[in-house]
Amino acid sequence: MQEKGEVNTDIPNSNSEGIWFTEYGPENTALSLKISRKIFEKETPFQRIEIFESYDYGKVLVLDGFIMLTEKDEFIYHEMIAHVPLFTHPNPVRVLVIGGGDGGVVREVLKHKSVERIELVEIDEEVVNAARRFFPQVSSYLDDERVEVIFQDGVEFIKSKNGVYDVILIDSPDPIGPAVGLFEENFYKDVFSALNDFGIVVAQAESPFVFPDLIKKIHSVFNKYFPIVRFYLANVPTYASGLISFVLGSKKFDPVEDFNPNRVAGFQLKYYNEQIHWASFALPNFFKDLLK
Ligand code: SAM
Repeated sequence: MQEKGEVNTDIPNSNSEGIWFTEYGPENTALSLKISRKIFEKETPFQRIEIFESYDYGKVLVLDGFIMLTEKDEFIYHEMIAHVPLFTHPNPVRVLVIGGGDGGVVREVLKHKSVERIELVEIDEEVVNAARRFFPQVSSYLDDERVEVIFQDGVEFIKSKNGVYDVILIDSPDPIGPAVGLFEENFYKDVFSALNDFGIVVAQAESPFVFPDLIKKIHSVFNKYFPIVRFYLANVPTYASGLISFVLGSKKFDPVEDFNPNRVAGFQLKYYNEQIHWASFALPNFFKDLLK
């Protein structure tokens, strides 16, 4: 049996020559990308970092065998986790990003001129170092003067904050290793306290095909603390099942009722636009059933 994330060279298919990276899902499904080579690997105190050069998706960042981003499709996730809450909040100034050491979410937040300060709290400095070396188009924005990078466990960092942030974005990997705490109720109790009276939080909430029970759990936790809770969806080809959900918790502004589409004018984005904003909250029935 292959180890998670190992390079698998014997896929029995018509196009099997060459080397493939395979992400083994938590169940009995996998995703493979043909690669030309592995260009980086490092075991850190928190996880294994690997970077591959793939034929179809460019460079690929992998943590503990799970794909975090690819050069080809990272714009989808990074635009959707950032612009939906930032265009919902009427005037975001203070933003906190937990996780997100590749810098992609920060790149998108910086496009909002109202934002004066972004704190990025990443537990593993080696992820930032690797992103700076191999993904400059994603990580170079970490050097912006509005950005402060803090190497700390987000679960600990959030405990000391009270009524500070307009928007908090939880750009976590799958719920393994150091990220487990980012899916727990106590963490979101602290997130609620760290937001000010108009605050909004968005967290990546995994795929309904892969983590249906986790989505149910996050939904019930958010409903305990936030008056407004909504899920929204996006298609990311290289995330397990190709469908990823986001959960939004808001103290005052509703991402559908209070969204002003005119604010999006002038933004040059590759995925997000005002129609996508509306449409992403239109949930299919099977997803709605998860939330009942
Ligand atoms: N967009 C990706 C996804 O949806 O899977 C996540 C990308 S980003 C690389 C995830 C980051 O979260 C990693 O760099 C990891 O080190 C960081 N992380 C994991 N647990 C953390 C924690 N408790 N506090 C802060 N950062 C954490």
